[in-house]
Amino acid sequence: MNNRSNVKARCALHKITPYSPGKPIWELQAERGLSSVTKLASNENPLGPSPKAMEAISLLLPDIHRYPDAGASRLRQALADKYEMNPGQFLVSNGGDELITLIAETFLDPEDEMIICSPSFSEYEFGAHLMGASVISVPLDKDFQFDMDAIIGAVTPRTRLLCLCSPNNPTGTYIPAKVLHHLLDILPDHVVVLLDAAYSQFAEAPDYTNGLEFVRAGYPLIVLQTFSKIYGLAGLRVGYGIAPEAIIQQISKVKEPFNVNMLAQAAAEAALGDEDHMHKTLAVNAYGKLQLYHAFQSLELSYIDSMSNFVLVEIGAEAKRVYEELLSRGVIVRYGGIWNLPRHIRVSVGTQEENEVFSAALKDILG
Ligand SMILES: *Cc1c(COP(=O)(O)O)cnc(C)c1O
Repeated sequence: MNNRSNVKARCALHKITPYSPGKPIWELQAERGLSSVTKLASNENPLGPSPKAMEAISLLLPDIHRYPDAGASRLRQALADKYEMNPGQFLVSNGGDELITLIAETFLDPEDEMIICSPSFSEYEFGAHLMGASVISVPLDKDFQFDMDAIIGAVTPRTRLLCLCSPNNPTGTYIPAKVLHHLLDILPDHVVVLLDAAYSQFAEAPDYTNGLEFVRAGYPLIVLQTFSKIYGLAGLRVGYGIAPEAIIQQISKVKEPFNVNMLAQAAAEAALGDEDHMHKTLAVNAYGKLQLYHAFQSLELSYIDSMSNFVLVEIGAEAKRVYEELLSRGVIVRYGGIWNLPRHIRVSVGTQEENEVFSAALKDILG
């Protein structure tokens, strides 16, 4: 037996813990022999992909022996048209997740610090750990709002990146435009801000901002977007960043040339133009959120008003057991333990029927 495969990996890898994804439908089916499974765990579009995206993919199948467009130029032009910006202000990535890694690779040296708020999306930390940089975690306040004084207080001469998520995953809370504006004005010049707006399309509060006004104004801000949520293309892996051109040029240096495949680029472009699918999705989400709120009210559970397509609800000391019992009934949600919220679960808003299945199972378990 040769033991030389025990070679030592980089020290930075010690801090990396594997991402904990929502349980896939096939896995639960295989484990428990269930025929029907309701997955409300990954904030996917319950209506499925845009029909226009599916058509765009089928038209391209005869061309997949060719390399994709390295610059995703058609998609970037479509995005530029939509937002009335310049294609040079966009960078297309293999899902929003890849953009986070690219940003870390662009801006973080090992002596640098990155500020995150918690609880929030776990992939920011992954990027910092990968580069051997330090993570400074600032808790949200008791109502799960962003604590701007604490964030500003955490900035040091070593801070390079500040990661904000609005609407925030997993809480559904958001940062009002004025508050973000004030923050951007007082941050020192050596701090780049990542505003993760993966759920921006669902945010209906009048004082919400997706950050684009600040990119247009030239602040050192990178807005993250994805086609995985409202556009229903999670399986294809496509997202993008919007930032001042100089920042996009820096990030482009670490991007692999063919990071986004041909089918994903075409599907994203088609989905972007499918307003009908987008409006249907928003309507289903608005209705579904009320269904979930009603179910929680009738069970006297407290939940956080969500600007997104998921709801964080406090189940109490039994949350883990409730999560497990939902699984055995074929309903997949997220247990809050992964965010240090052991009394909570996060449930994605589904179709009317999926929300009914979930609510009935929850009532059965708790009642
Ligand atoms: C889903 C999600 C993303 C990006 O997901 P991709 O599938 O990699 O595009 C980014 N941020 C948050 C907060 C998310 O929930």
